[in-house]
This record gives sequence, structure tokens and C-alpha cells, in this order.
Amino acid sequence: MSALFDHHVHSDRSDGTVSLADRAKSVATRPHGVSDHYPWKEKLRDEDDVKRYIDDASRLGLRVGLEYDLGVAPQLGADTRESLHYLIGAIHQISLDGKQIGYDDAGAFVKGRIKSFKERDRFSDPALQKRILERTLEVVAEGIDRDRIDILGHPTFSALQALGDPERVYPEEWQERLIDLCVKGRIAIEINESYGVPHREFLVRAARAGALFSVGTDTHFEIKPLDKTDAMIAAAALDRGRFMAGSRLAPT
Ligand SMILES: [Zn+2]
Ligand SMILES: [Zn+2]
Repeated sequence: MSALFDHHVHSDRSDGTVSLADRAKSVATRPHGVSDHYPWKEKLRDEDDVKRYIDDASRLGLRVGLEYDLGVAPQLGADTRESLHYLIGAIHQISLDGKQIGYDDAGAFVKGRIKSFKERDRFSDPALQKRILERTLEVVAEGIDRDRIDILGHPTFSALQALGDPERVYPEEWQERLIDLCVKGRIAIEINESYGVPHREFLVRAARAGALFSVGTDTHFEIKPLDKTDAMIAAAALDRGRFMAGSRLAPT
């Protein structure tokens, strides 16, 4: 089975451990691009940094994306967006009543880096869950309409994922609305190897709705085989012809 193109790979230009030069070498192992976080601390602070990143990675022959922090990142100029091969939008925190609700602890737990989810009680509040879910759809819609993202990165990752069964924490009706935004916006739903999302039922629903997909290992380390991703694709019986291949789709 030939490897699908991996759009979501970090380098040391944000929080990854591998240089762009070494990323350019591992493309021979299996096809992948690079897509660092924007914004990212002192490394990708503003659009000038992004332009330098695109230039440096392109010179090495890499396909270049960006993991655009939805709800946080400053808007990109049209020319910068056009010079990217693709733009991934992803949510890492949500803003409610002007306060940022971070997902870092949940993310570390979901990725198996910590053993217990300390904020379990807080996120078990149904009223808070409802507000997070509604706000998530608004932020994704803005990413599609305003920022023109091509891929929704780790689509069902939130602090709620750390609570357990995604079919319980994400109402089916909410899943369908998220899928509908992606299908109507013609953006790909990422299968994220690090977070193990989306879960099988979501992928089956998305395929039924005619969604496009994208592989994203979200690796911050060396390139490894796509074992978990291949198993997720097989479990949901997804058509490998519906996957993005390193370029954004032509506008209709
Ligand atoms: Zn992310
Ligand atoms: Zn990432």
C-alpha cells in the first residue's frame, strides 16, 4: 500500500525537534510536507516570519503548510496564503467570555504523555461542554469563511475528548454540523495519528456526507510508518481516492 501524503509535520521552526533540512531528507521515506504552528512564540511571530519559513522550506523542496491556530492567529495576507501549498486550521484553546480555556493538559493526556487528566471535573460540567461545542463550530466556520483553511486539523480534539467515549461527549447532531461545515466549505477532515481523531463513527458519517480527508501524523519527531492512520482508514472503510495529496484543491 503506497503511503498517503502526510500534511501535518512539525519542525524546529515551531515546537518540533527536527530541522527543515532533515525534514527534506525524510520525504524519501514517505511523502510529507511541513506545517508548523502559527503563531509560535519567538519563532513564528508574524507574517514576515511566515514568509521566511515558506521561502526556507520551499528552497529545500518541501511542500509547505502552516498549522494556523484558529481563534488566535492573526489573519494572513492573501499572497501569503496563496504561497502556501495548503493551510491547516486547528483549535488548541477556546475563548469564552473573553477568557482562554486551554487544551494543553487534555492534549498531553490524550497523547499519553501524562497519566491523569487533572481538569476532568471542570470539563464534566454539561453547561460548559455545550458552550465549548457551540463556540467550536463558530471558530471553524470563521476559519473556513475568513481564513480559507484547506484542512481542519485534529477535528474532534478538545478538552472534552479527554473525558472518554467521543460518541458520548460529542452529540451526533453536533458531529453532523461539523461535518456539514467541512463538506460545504470543501475542506478536508484530517485523520490525526497523534491524537487518534476523529473516531470511527465520525469518519463513517463524514464519508457518507461526501467529505474529503487528509492525513496528518502531527509528528514532532522522526517520521514513522502510518500504522495507526492506516488502521483508522481501514476501520471506517474510507476511499483512499478522497484524500488530499499535498496541494490545495482548485477553486470551483
Ligand atoms: Zn495542533
Ligand atoms: Zn500540529
